[in-house]
Amino acid sequence: MLVAIDGPAGAGKSTVARAVAHALGFTYLDTGAMYRCAALASLRGAGTVDAARIAFAEDRVLLDGEDVTTAIRTPGVTERASEVAARPEVREALIARQRELIAGGDWVAEGRDIATVVAPDAEVKVFLTASPQERARRRAAELGADAGVVARELALRDERDSGHGRTTLHPAPGATPLDTTGLSIDEVVQAIVARVPR
Ligand code: C5P
Repeated sequence: MLVAIDGPAGAGKSTVARAVAHALGFTYLDTGAMYRCAALASLRGAGTVDAARIAFAEDRVLLDGEDVTTAIRTPGVTERASEVAARPEVREALIARQRELIAGGDWVAEGRDIATVVAPDAEVKVFLTASPQERARRRAAELGADAGVVARELALRDERDSGHGRTTLHPAPGATPLDTTGLSIDEVVQAIVARVPR
C-alpha cells in the first residue's frame, strides 16, 4: 500500500506525511531529503551522488553512513537541492532508488512527483496546497525568519521546482487536492487517513 503526498514547499507535507505514516503504522519516505543529500554531496565536491549511499534509519537521514539529518536543512543545501533536482541524471538515480525502497511494505511517500512520476499506481494520492501567505508564515515560524524574506525565497523555489520539465507542482490524475490553509495538522491527517482503504 502506498500513500503519495505531493505539493509545494511549505504546504505542510513533511509534518503531515510523518503523522499519517505514524497513524497508519506505515513507513515514511521523505524524497526531499534524498535531493538534499545529493545537494550536500555536491557542495562537498562530489559529482553525481550514488543513490545507494543514501539511507534512512528511524528518523535519521544517512549519507554514506554519516548522520546528515541536520546538515541537509541549511539554507545553502536547500538552494543547491532545487538546482541538483533539475539534473536528469540525479532525478533518474533518486527515482530508481525511491521505487526500490517503496517496492516492499506499506509506505507514505512525500515529495513533488510521487504520484505523477515515481508511483502513478499509488493507492492514495493527495496533493497538498496552502496559500502563499500561509506557506511563508509556516516556513518563517519553523526557521525563525522574516515572513517577507521567506515568501520571496519560496516564490523563487516554486519557479525553479516547476521548471524541471516534469509534472511536479500539479496534482496527478486522480489525486485529491487538499488545501491546508486554516486547517490544523490533525484535520489534514484525518482527511488523508480517511481515504486509505482498510
Ligand atoms: O521537500 P524539500 O524541501 O525537502 O525538497 C528539497 C528540494 O528537492 C525541493 O525544493 C525540490 O527541488 C527537490 N525535490 C524534487 N522532487 C521531490 C522532492 C524534492 O525535485 N520528489
